[in-house]
Amino acid sequence: MLYMGVDIGSASSKCVIMDGSACFVAKAVVPSGTGTSGPERAVKEALRISGAGTEQISFSIATGYGRNTFTAAGDRVSELSCHAKGAVWILPGVRTVIDIGGQDAKALAINDEGRLVNFVMNDKCAAGTGRFLDVMARVLETEVGELAELDEKADGVVQISSTCAVFAESEVISQLANNAPIPNLVAGIHRSAAARAASLLKRVGITEPVLMTGGVANNAGVVRALAVTLGVEIRTSPFSQTAGALGAALIAIEKQRK
Ligand code: ADP
Repeated sequence: MLYMGVDIGSASSKCVIMDGSACFVAKAVVPSGTGTSGPERAVKEALRISGAGTEQISFSIATGYGRNTFTAAGDRVSELSCHAKGAVWILPGVRTVIDIGGQDAKALAINDEGRLVNFVMNDKCAAGTGRFLDVMARVLETEVGELAELDEKADGVVQISSTCAVFAESEVISQLANNAPIPNLVAGIHRSAAARAASLLKRVGITEPVLMTGGVANNAGVVRALAVTLGVEIRTSPFSQTAGALGAALIAIEKQRK
């Protein structure tokens, strides 16, 4: 029998399928979040990859910002519990997690038994979130997936002094008008996002190993900037964006066993 976790975020929908021994079977990420057909498409795609039918899913759990709208799931669990569980599966022994998604960022402290013991969250402000990077990519007429490569070409850093995402956007526009090199601007944008993540991590307390999860973990420029800012190795994984869905699938296995 199989188990499913569905993580419905503000920017994307993720689905993970696992077997009863907590072995990974399939995953899918659709770049449309809550309020769209994204969750259903993510489920359909993960089922297609697994080759399984809906009837083979013993139990499913929904998590994320849009979890309450996904009535097809057997149960709903908070993002924090799912992220912590998913992070421990991705990197056994992980002690600190920085999760940066489309609309919020959170830092999680995990003890040596793999339990979530503390967290700090930023969900009031776009600065340092995926949304901030998406807006900046649009201003620079590029894609968010191209930012890391641009950053690598930087030969300097244009400092972004505004902490507010709206003011930072105006600052980038005026730097563009002054012919600032785009790679150096991207490096400054990544530094700014990393500074926000670093302050969350400092507030929760940093114990290595540190794992980055959420979609922004796909942006190697932010990961590098965070490692440089903190002087700490920041690990990522091909499963980073699906950490919440992984945790939800693992909790589905546990709930079914009870
Ligand atoms: P949520 O769970 O809130 O819906 P995600 O964890 O999926 O959000 O993160 C979405 C963010 O991840 C996007 O806003 C974008 O900035 C970033 N992102 C997603 N895919 C990539 C990619 N391939 N390269 C760089 N950044 C990415």
